[in-house]
Amino acid sequence: MLIKVKVFPGSKKQEIIEKSKDSLEIKVKEKPIQGRVNKECSLEIDSKMFFSKDKRTIKALINLKDGLKIESVLMKHKDKRNTVCVSSQIGCELGCLFCATGKMGFKRNLEADEIIEQVVLFARYLEKKKQRITNIVFMGMGEPFLNYDNVIESIKVLNDKQGFNLGARSFSISTAGIIDGINKLADEKLQINLAISLHAPDDKLRLKIMPMNKNYPLFKILKSVDNYILKTKRKVMFEYLMIDNVNDKDEHAEKLARLMKKPLYFVNLISYNPTGDFRPSSKQRIKKFREVLEKKGVQVGQRYSFGQDIKAACGQLAVKM
Ligand code: SF4
Repeated sequence: MLIKVKVFPGSKKQEIIEKSKDSLEIKVKEKPIQGRVNKECSLEIDSKMFFSKDKRTIKALINLKDGLKIESVLMKHKDKRNTVCVSSQIGCELGCLFCATGKMGFKRNLEADEIIEQVVLFARYLEKKKQRITNIVFMGMGEPFLNYDNVIESIKVLNDKQGFNLGARSFSISTAGIIDGINKLADEKLQINLAISLHAPDDKLRLKIMPMNKNYPLFKILKSVDNYILKTKRKVMFEYLMIDNVNDKDEHAEKLARLMKKPLYFVNLISYNPTGDFRPSSKQRIKKFREVLEKKGVQVGQRYSFGQDIKAACGQLAVKM
């Protein structure tokens, strides 16, 4: 099987069979095992790790070859899953008001090998503890669908039996609602998971906290999600950050319920991780908000927040350049 990559050209086990202008096509000869890339990758990864107090979250600050930096996070779940949250861009041009990455502005897209490098780093760390990566989520710095080709290329290498051999269903891409990306993913032959960062139940409020909503209004996003579901028959996750006094009132829950009551829609409530401008909703408010959704028949869950103390939680990733 051929894997088209721009990564690991120095690995001893690779056979270059074709060379094009800016990429190499390589054939991997060895038998597949997870961690093959981890074991044989010849790259030195220049990085520093930060550990949360409970040791369940590890944030890596990785120095790239051009001197720019990115962050990625390993989350160790109680049920033994190990999820790596990878970055797809350096900074982000979408500028969501609640997000530290958005405040950095946009520097550049990551190459596929720079995305894979983040996974390799944590695979090496876990291997020493005889553990392995079980899930990869594109929820770190950047909007994955604004770097579509590199994100999909990295997933294909990591998914490939002769690459990293991680099952397609172990990958999740989270988008703020880039319609082109949702439509393209619907046509990929990849059974990966899709999540939409929703965070508001109507365009007026969404536009206030997510300026990209101007070009991607809710009805268009939901139309492309419905089309995605029609084609893939897969469940879609809608992430909803609970921000005190912004989007967490009963009236917001009522509106959200009207949008979300569909068989393959699933809402995930996330306690907001402070980045300066907003406060998180109280536990009681989240509970009440959830009850309103449940009463209306919406499928809803809550996500545990990892690594607030090392600024590794959702929306907190940002680096000084
Ligand atoms: S939340 Fe996501 S899309 Fe919005 S600014 Fe942050 S990284 Fe970009």
